[in-house]
Amino acid sequence: AWELSEFGQRLGLGSGIGELMDDLGHAIAKGGDRVCMLGGGQPAHIPQVEEVWRRRIQEIADQPGALEHALGNYEPPAGNPGFREAIAGLFRRQFGWDISSENVAVTPGGQTAFFLLLNALAGRFADGRHKKVLLPLVPEYIGYANQSVADDLFVAVRPLIDRLGKHRFKYRVDFDRLVVTDDIAAICVSRPTNPSGNVLTDDEIDRLAKIANQHQIPLIIDGAYGAPFPNVIFTDAAPVWNKDLILTLSLSKIGLPGTRTGIVIAQNDLIRSIASMTSIVGLANTNVGQSIVTPLVESGEILDVSNNIVRPFYQQKSIEALQMVDDLFDDAIPYRVHQSEGALFLWIWFEDLPITSTQLYQRLKLRDVLVVPGNHFFFGDDDPSWAHRNQCIRVTFTMPKAIVHRGLQAIAEEVRTAYQGE
Ligand code: PLP
Repeated sequence: AWELSEFGQRLGLGSGIGELMDDLGHAIAKGGDRVCMLGGGQPAHIPQVEEVWRRRIQEIADQPGALEHALGNYEPPAGNPGFREAIAGLFRRQFGWDISSENVAVTPGGQTAFFLLLNALAGRFADGRHKKVLLPLVPEYIGYANQSVADDLFVAVRPLIDRLGKHRFKYRVDFDRLVVTDDIAAICVSRPTNPSGNVLTDDEIDRLAKIANQHQIPLIIDGAYGAPFPNVIFTDAAPVWNKDLILTLSLSKIGLPGTRTGIVIAQNDLIRSIASMTSIVGLANTNVGQSIVTPLVESGEILDVSNNIVRPFYQQKSIEALQMVDDLFDDAIPYRVHQSEGALFLWIWFEDLPITSTQLYQRLKLRDVLVVPGNHFFFGDDDPSWAHRNQCIRVTFTMPKAIVHRGLQAIAEEVRTAYQGE
């Protein structure tokens, strides 16, 4: 093999999470009912939503020039002008935000938006300084963890843990521990949060935005599951944007992950930087997702799909999964589930679990049940003495009910065995 540069080594030699994703991918490929796939971030196939995509593909095929454009043209690197205008218009109408198409950039998925944003804002600076991204609450989205092309990028703050009732809990930002030093380039949160299903409150977002503003750094809000689409939020949470904020959205969780369409909303000089990076790394974005949804964004149908189909679908899934957990994890298991306020996962905490979440993951894998061990979501805080980091697992509830049930049953059995010291 050829010698790899620092960039090549950091990104080209795999990662813990890469291996995990590989496990999950192979499990899907194996197919069949044997594997309980409760590990990925794969959105469900919702027939009513797929009907909308089918209709739009038909319309694109039938409309003169539309297919030719969607498949045959390069778009400008910031995205299709009509799509960018439609997005800006939706936000103006819906939330009264003062934005134009100049505040909107398209990227190849939210994941790539973060690769570009994190590396452009933090890392090594020309004068030798190094800057990091502050995660005000971990656990946080695993997909950020290995994205740095140079330095380690993250500093994380541990949350306050509110124990609610006998079997629930909720994370809150610990503002007393949140310190913004000169080497912090940005603050970053996902809302709803992958993995915990937490939705930061309006008050928490407001305080974070004020802190970011005081330090003249951006607050990045990852709305992959957020408002206004796919709006997989089960609480009251007001979407916010102003020129100090960077909001990212995605078409993935409404049901179009295969189109790889991410959206960044930010001040226009940052938007121009994103367009520049897109053109250097990939010339342009994929057109298909933009072509499919532009008329739905213009008409507002994308909000109806989100609010009337997608959100109720996942909310129902969440309620069912929580019910199954409470039924299956009898009082022999000291478990707590994070309040399911949004996104596609249950985040289950086994306090004082005698084995690590990685060992639990391995035991479950032997039974063809795949979850994600929670320790991967605590990057930016390396303190091994913090037991909580090894006591949680993420369980995706998007699969059919029988599969979720079978998986949860196996988890209950393995956890009970572990608490019994075996
Ligand atoms: N942000 C969060 C919180 C996610 O969970 C995901 C995907 O799971 C992404 C971003 C990236 O998604 P995509 O690149 O498909 O837009």
